[in-house]
Amino acid sequence: MSSEKFREWAKNEISKSGPLRLSDAITAALIHPDFGYYHLKEIIGSEGDFITAPEVSQMFGELVGAFLAYIWVQSDRPANSLLCEFGPGRGTLSADINSALAQISPQFSRSPLHLIETSTSLREIQETSLRRQTVFWHDDFKKIPNQPLFAVANEFFDALGVNQAIFDGENWRHRLLDFDMHFELVTGPILNKAELKAFNAFSLKNQDKGTIIEYSPKTVQISAEIALHIKQFGGAFLIVDYGKTNQIGDTIQAVSNHKPAEPWSNAGNADISHWVDFECIKRTVENAGARFIGPISQSKFFTQIGIKQRAQMLANSESPEINRALFAAVDRLISPTHMGNLFQVGLIIPVGEGLPPGFQTE
Ligand code: SAH
Repeated sequence: MSSEKFREWAKNEISKSGPLRLSDAITAALIHPDFGYYHLKEIIGSEGDFITAPEVSQMFGELVGAFLAYIWVQSDRPANSLLCEFGPGRGTLSADINSALAQISPQFSRSPLHLIETSTSLREIQETSLRRQTVFWHDDFKKIPNQPLFAVANEFFDALGVNQAIFDGENWRHRLLDFDMHFELVTGPILNKAELKAFNAFSLKNQDKGTIIEYSPKTVQISAEIALHIKQFGGAFLIVDYGKTNQIGDTIQAVSNHKPAEPWSNAGNADISHWVDFECIKRTVENAGARFIGPISQSKFFTQIGIKQRAQMLANSESPEINRALFAAVDRLISPTHMGNLFQVGLIIPVGEGLPPGFQTE
């Protein structure tokens, strides 16, 4: 069992150097080569633990493809463009993007596809679902060629792990994972100046004792790398994720078999995620000299780029069942009671004016 291996790993780490930073514990639980959750086979889909938007309907990927094609045209159709997906799961989103691009913009659709993926078993699944394309896999962003990059990430940043701090009435202190008979969260040392800055704690006034804040070091590192790349070589990066717009709150959650689970005792066997702080990504991108647009709700984004019209086009009057399934999928993706408001969409592009479709605020 992966959760037992995680427990042994964590106990060993804690005995060597004390209670763990939560982001380190989450990263090990998800991607450690010996027991990381993403190395298990069936995790995404109705047979797995959770379903993601591209798995709900092909319309998600097709509309993202149409959106990227629009930005590509606005960027003067760079001939050496790259397509890229971060954390492609089963490869469904990239496959649907490609089938839309093949219709809308065949030249763009032939761009090489770069995938950022650490899981070997998911790479195998992606190899099958994307067999018609030229694909390159990477563990991280560092080896992406210096060319215009049109990238997307759905439910990737929420898997990068997050650290927490808790206010004791006077100071912010680290919140860490310890083990004594069972896992427990403990209050650790006071945050130093650099850590307070990383958590953006100086912006907070009059907090109640016990308030928890979050900061994801990997999110900042990766969004800075992407922003620098896009500033220098052009392109665009579309981010879709569970979102919030500040650092406040304990948002760590785990899911197993489509149900909430306790994160630490199930680590290795459950998906552990957190809500992405889009304001933090925006600050990071702007500091790196690129532009961040949004976040806007998934509901508003997909409504603006025409999900209802797309469903109407696909609806086949001969088959009421298919039609019902299509409109149920639209509802699932954009209704506030499902994914519509929990999920947010943001865009990184080079500095400039104007708002692309999807991000209009009126
Ligand atoms: N985007 C897909 C899958 C989301 S699950 C979908 O919408 O269906 C998260 C994905 O990110 C998986 O493919 C997982 O293996 C990958 N992943 C998680 N942490 C990662 C990391 N640190 N580096 C690279 N890939 C990671």
